[in-house]
Amino acid sequence: MSKNILLLPGDGIGPEIVAETRKVLEVVNEKYDLGLELNEALVGGSAIDATGKPLPDETLAAAKAADAILLGAVGGPKWDTNPDFQIRPEKGLLGLRTELELFGNLRPAILYPQLAHASTLKEEVVSGLDILIVRELTGGIYFGKPRGIREKEGGVREGYNTYVYDENEIRRIGRVAFEAARARNKKLCSVDKANVLEVTVLWREIMEELKTEYPDVELSHMYVDNAAMQLVRAPKQFDVIVTGNMFGDILSDAAAMLTGSIGMLPSASLDKNGKGMYEPCHGSAPDIAGQGKANPLATILSAAMMLRYSLDQGQAADAIEAAVSKVLDQGLRTPDILSEGMRQVSTAEMGDAVVAALNS
Ligand code: NAD
Repeated sequence: MSKNILLLPGDGIGPEIVAETRKVLEVVNEKYDLGLELNEALVGGSAIDATGKPLPDETLAAAKAADAILLGAVGGPKWDTNPDFQIRPEKGLLGLRTELELFGNLRPAILYPQLAHASTLKEEVVSGLDILIVRELTGGIYFGKPRGIREKEGGVREGYNTYVYDENEIRRIGRVAFEAARARNKKLCSVDKANVLEVTVLWREIMEELKTEYPDVELSHMYVDNAAMQLVRAPKQFDVIVTGNMFGDILSDAAAMLTGSIGMLPSASLDKNGKGMYEPCHGSAPDIAGQGKANPLATILSAAMMLRYSLDQGQAADAIEAAVSKVLDQGLRTPDILSEGMRQVSTAEMGDAVVAALNS
């Protein structure tokens, strides 16, 4: 049965990195007989230029109809100053997340041994690092109501937000995390602030409740301030971390930097049926767009995640990850991960090298 994959190149380096990923998907499609049908649509700034909207109706319809979505990146100085927030590129991305109910964000932070020196932390602290952060993406304080800036008595202004999760929201992200831990090293750390925030007292309670469904997974709890400290002190103690939207936003960026290069990190955002949107963790890098300097590996690794999590094609996913490791072994580096003695290659040369490694 064929699988409909929607490619959304977006802006800046997006089209370059998605073009390389397309080559890789075409190879595994043929090699593993996956029946992938690759289609493309506009999102972000390029969609604003063509249609006036960051998320055109036809793109949303194509995204809803697709089995999985692979996105490059959106945004750039041309559109970032538009005073109307509704026609900013990010609205395209947020619109897709909301419309498709992509509540489960999976961000692996994997340090390839070949790049251990690229981390700002000592090699022995990060070498072999392989963490998965599961972040709730459509609830919590970023979406809670009421919110705003109001005037109190005496004309003093105050800003306010609402941190709210109901038990169903906690349960569904908890299940994503327990399942992910079950497929990895069976260790799950739930991060909260249960000593201060009632909403996370409930979070902790629900995680404990879920534990009975997953007796093979070892569950621990950690306060977010300690988690931030432990991530830079001894990150290898973690296997899977699950947390709410805001804590996850902050911790996943810290974890990303442990690996030294944002150009290597994929991500997935999943709905309740496992359908997902896959994208690199980085943005559209307008400073290097169109120069053949972008690292396409984060997007290629996002495609591997797509095959694993939404299409149940673990073998093809493993093959892509092995091919990426092989090109790193060969000493090929885009400028962002270049070090002494390695060979600098362009975006397209890196894509071609992954294709060659898959074919070898
Ligand atoms: P960025 O991630 O685009 O770039 C940060 C730095 O990392 C830049 O120096 C860039 O050259 C470098 N970089 C990023 N990806 C790279 C890659 N694959 N290879 C080599 N180097 C890479 O973040 P920014 O500069 O803060 O944002 C630029 C634009 O991207 C903005 O318009 C922002 O809104 C948008 N953005 C989009 C997303 C998304 O689409 N998911 C995420 C973050 C930022």
